[in-house]
Amino acid sequence: MPEKKDLIIVGAGALGTFHAFHALRQGLKVTLFEKDQYPVNATVRNFGQVVTSGMSGRWFDYGRRSMYWYQILQEKMDISVRRHGTVYIASDPDEQQIIHELKQIMDNKAYDSKLLSTAQCLEKWPVLRGDYCREALFFPEEISVAPEHMIYRVLDYLKETYPQFTYLPHTTIVDCTDTASGAKVVTNAGHVFEAEKVVICNGGEFKLLFPDLFKASGIVVSKLQMMRTQPMPEVELKGNILTGLTIRRYESFEECPSFGSLQTPEHLKELKKWGIHILFKKADDGSFIIGDSHEYADVLHTDDLGFSVSAYINELMLKEAERIVHFGVRNLDRVWAGFYPLHKKKDIVEEDLSAHIHIRTAIGGKGMTSSAGYTEESINKLFF
Ligand SMILES: Cc1cc2nc3c(=O)[nH]c(=O)nc-3n(C[C@H](O)[C@H](O)[C@H](O)COP(=O)(O)OP(=O)(O)OC[C@H]3O[C@@H](n4cnc5c(N)ncnc54)[C@H](O)[C@@H]3O)c2cc1C
Repeated sequence: MPEKKDLIIVGAGALGTFHAFHALRQGLKVTLFEKDQYPVNATVRNFGQVVTSGMSGRWFDYGRRSMYWYQILQEKMDISVRRHGTVYIASDPDEQQIIHELKQIMDNKAYDSKLLSTAQCLEKWPVLRGDYCREALFFPEEISVAPEHMIYRVLDYLKETYPQFTYLPHTTIVDCTDTASGAKVVTNAGHVFEAEKVVICNGGEFKLLFPDLFKASGIVVSKLQMMRTQPMPEVELKGNILTGLTIRRYESFEECPSFGSLQTPEHLKELKKWGIHILFKKADDGSFIIGDSHEYADVLHTDDLGFSVSAYINELMLKEAERIVHFGVRNLDRVWAGFYPLHKKKDIVEEDLSAHIHIRTAIGGKGMTSSAGYTEESINKLFF
């Protein structure tokens, strides 16, 4: 049997990999299992927007702490962190009112932000449409990462830096039970590994481990449609660009006094029905990620979400994108669907099945923003 470790982690998405990072940093011996050849789920299918300004409660603090850890890692290796800020563009007086209120909340937290006029926005991002952009709230310190690179580079960094780290991709964990002094997992090949603790960061994979627990968990899975354009290096639109429908959607705005009385204008009703808000993120190669939409199914019916991408939903998103910017948003290279689990009543699912087996999943749409900070606290609570 392989050497007993301090920690076994199941799943090498953002939650699993950053649990490994913090455990290794503190000198623990870690084995990380990933069922796929390399992670291919939510952690690589997203925008890579690290938008602490969109978080509320403790998730704001985790977001802030995550930005710190992303920068520390970036100093060691180019893990794709870019600091171009985040902007929320208000398109009508209601949205303007809300960004003014959020500015006040952020000032109280001493979190740097600036209100920008239409003229200032057009100077900074000339492809915005002046008739859409009435005013904006800009967070200059915020960052983005390249989702198609970040997690692989962090895994490379961990492998290169920590001799006590074992990473086993292509290895599915099919069983996990307590032992006399810890816990053990069994791989699909029948190999047994032991550790003091096992943390299960299985993302939206609920059929392999503890299926009955997940069936009764109240978890919901969201399907998001995403698009990526051809490279357009000449188009000036750097940073995390979030728009009116995001102001009407993100958690931090729910803390604003006027949020509860926001009415949905007629022209946004169909978009809201499909959970659409429009975000843009320019990649290093000049391409743009544009999205997204949200469809939901409970944990027993996730297969009903399907594998296909709806042309109708993409068309709704592209039309709204054209109301916001004037560049070739239809110059598409690829489209895809991403999936993430969330819980209807909890902001994350933390199930401690024993003193040694711990489930950490369903972080929802905030995993790229807050996992690095959240997992630091999680490791401290589990071990120190
Ligand atoms: C389209 C889209 C856009 C998003 N945009 C953003 C954004 O801009 N900013 C932001 O903050 N968040 C964003 N998110 C959310 C973010 O991507 C997720 O919160 C985060 O990636 C979740 O990470 P995870 O580790 O929990 O899950 P996952 O990335 O799903 O990782 C779980 C891993 O566990 C593995 N696994 C599962 N079971 C087993 C097993 N039994 N044995 C071995 N391995 C196993 C899986 O193969 C998988 O690799 C977005 C999500 C999507 C889908």
